[in-house]
Amino acid sequence: MVTYRYLGNSGLKITEITFGNWLTHGGQVENETAIKSVHAALDAGITSFDTADVYMNGKAEEVLGEALRGQRRESVEVFTKVYWPTGPGGANDSGLSRKHIMESIDGSLRRLGTDYVDLYQAHRYDTETPLEETMQAFADVVRQGKALYIGVSEWTADQLRAGHALAKELGIHLISSQPQYSMLWRVIEPEVVPASEELGVSQIVWSPMAQGVLSGKYLPGKDAPAGSRAADKNASTGGIQRFLTDDVLTRVQQLKPVADELGLTQAQLAIAWVLQNRNVAAALVGASRPEQVAENVKASGVEIPAELMTRIDEILGDVVVRDAAKTAENAPKTRPS
Ligand code: NDP
Repeated sequence: MVTYRYLGNSGLKITEITFGNWLTHGGQVENETAIKSVHAALDAGITSFDTADVYMNGKAEEVLGEALRGQRRESVEVFTKVYWPTGPGGANDSGLSRKHIMESIDGSLRRLGTDYVDLYQAHRYDTETPLEETMQAFADVVRQGKALYIGVSEWTADQLRAGHALAKELGIHLISSQPQYSMLWRVIEPEVVPASEELGVSQIVWSPMAQGVLSGKYLPGKDAPAGSRAADKNASTGGIQRFLTDDVLTRVQQLKPVADELGLTQAQLAIAWVLQNRNVAAALVGASRPEQVAENVKASGVEIPAELMTRIDEILGDVVVRDAAKTAENAPKTRPS
């Protein structure tokens, strides 16, 4: 079974391995396989699920809603997000304005087939909307009972501090930050994690396997295996190319003996690695097949000895990205349309 962790300084428990459906549901994966993957997650003890309104323009939320239909609502934790353009991409179909937040939550609830989400997240920081307006709208969503807690994604330490202070004034709980984090991408360690620890905010981290690269299945100088994300021309636009260099792939192959020593697959090692960071409440793990879910959940509860953590750092060396400025650099400077 999967271990639970508290989300931030709140009473909400979530599974430390949380199922995410970016690129897969409503896209790369047929609905039948998508639904079987969600059921495999439930069977394995995963009860927390992450999606977003923008994933396949609403289809991912619909597929997740269908997959969870019939589950006791109190026994699952459902997270979604708002910010990126949805619908036809009109002037007010993106961002964190009051208009877009109040309209988007209703669309998400309808597609997910639920009366409330457990966590509603700002998918990015909106440089064009006053933060006070955004947080007031989130507070109203919470008071309407449509979301229980608030989170953010890819916000800088300063943005987190400002958002958290306003949330506190408004009496709502901003308890999570959703950044990219893996052995290869550690840009949250210098600033976002210390600020979050101070504020009582947890990380729920995306692409802990670097989109599958850390499973070791991509070999240097070889074509991506058939059926993998990197071989899928739509899915591979999600940024996986960044990790598909010979240098990165060669070093990832060298992690196999470390995984072997722990009796783990490389995919499990990658997930267990992010969970060694105690500010991480969950690894958001994707899957294109139910068998992957069954494999990946075995990373729950694994302790990696300090000596092996050091060996991982030595093997990966300078391919690890650590620059804190990347959080801001990767966020849009203006609201996308
Ligand atoms: P991962 O790093 O977990 O990659 C998942 C992919 O890796 C799978 O879809 C599968 O792809 C492959 N894979 C999974 N398990 C295995 C295995 N055991 N062996 C080999 N390959 C495997 O995370 P994602 O990039 O999918 O992101 C996870 C979640 O994070 C998303 O669903 C979403 O909820 C969230 N996210 C949030 C973002 C944000 O901006 N807030 C951005 C991106 C993601 P395949 O089989 O096709 O190769």
